[in-house]
Amino acid sequence: MKIIAVANQKGGVGKTTTTLSLSAALAEKGVRVLLVDVDPQGNASSALGASGEKGSLYHALIGEKPAAEMVYSTRIENLWTIPATLDLAGAEVEVARMEGHLTQLRRVLSPLKDLGLYDYLFLDCPPSLGILMSNALSAADEILVPIQCEYYALEGLGLLMQVTEQIRASGANPDLSLCGLLMTMYDGRTNLNPAVVKEVRNHFQEVVFDTLIPRTVRFAEAPSHGRTIIEHDPAGQGAEAYRALAGEFLERQKKGVAFVSGATAHH
Ligand code: ADP
Ligand code: MG
Repeated sequence: MKIIAVANQKGGVGKTTTTLSLSAALAEKGVRVLLVDVDPQGNASSALGASGEKGSLYHALIGEKPAAEMVYSTRIENLWTIPATLDLAGAEVEVARMEGHLTQLRRVLSPLKDLGLYDYLFLDCPPSLGILMSNALSAADEILVPIQCEYYALEGLGLLMQVTEQIRASGANPDLSLCGLLMTMYDGRTNLNPAVVKEVRNHFQEVVFDTLIPRTVRFAEAPSHGRTIIEHDPAGQGAEAYRALAGEFLERQKKGVAFVSGATAHH
């Protein structure tokens, strides 16, 4: 079981959409995915219909209940979730008081590895660089970074890379690597979006996924229907893009391609 954190401290860049859609696209291919919602807003949890009535990530994180008991099945075959509820915001304070507070999430999730029930565990990260995000980065094998195709796309990315380097250097997670950068909300009809993609590709080269996620209003509709794009508009270009991403993701995983910030590191 590999743990992938979908992270970018900027809000609204497509983290939750990517976590949900990529997880659903992988599940459709028969890959067993556990989506762990690390954002107290709980948007991914709502889309999957997990309300947290038997408990949530909060209870696992503070050590009240085993993570395995907080797993909910979803209406999608091969896709499970540990949901987040608003009380997760309060966990930041409680976790901060614990010894080894950076690695609490890693400890809590590690028994799931031995169960052999999931191939990938995806962490939907919150839009901040707080304790929850640091815990997600410490727990992850790899980070997948969605980047919105806009003028200031790369703003803040340096900071994320710096935090990643700190987590590595602190010894909390020395092997943390970058799975790839994903350009989201691409609109080819503007001059700006293709220029931004070109700039990001120049800068990060093969770290950037070939797959571009198009901007389509279908994404905004999907969560309000409490469904992922794969269910809401299965034949649409959004669903097709995330299926392509799932293929590209698995291809990279098979080849063992991962990156240390900008430089390629095969392992
Ligand atoms: P984050 O989790 O990074 O805050 P979200 O995934 O919640 O970002 O996306 C922010 C908003 O943008 C949501 O309303 C979502 O429906 C919309 N959105 C995400 N991806 C796309 C896309 N490819 N095209 C159009 N709208 C999108
Ligand atoms: Mg989100």
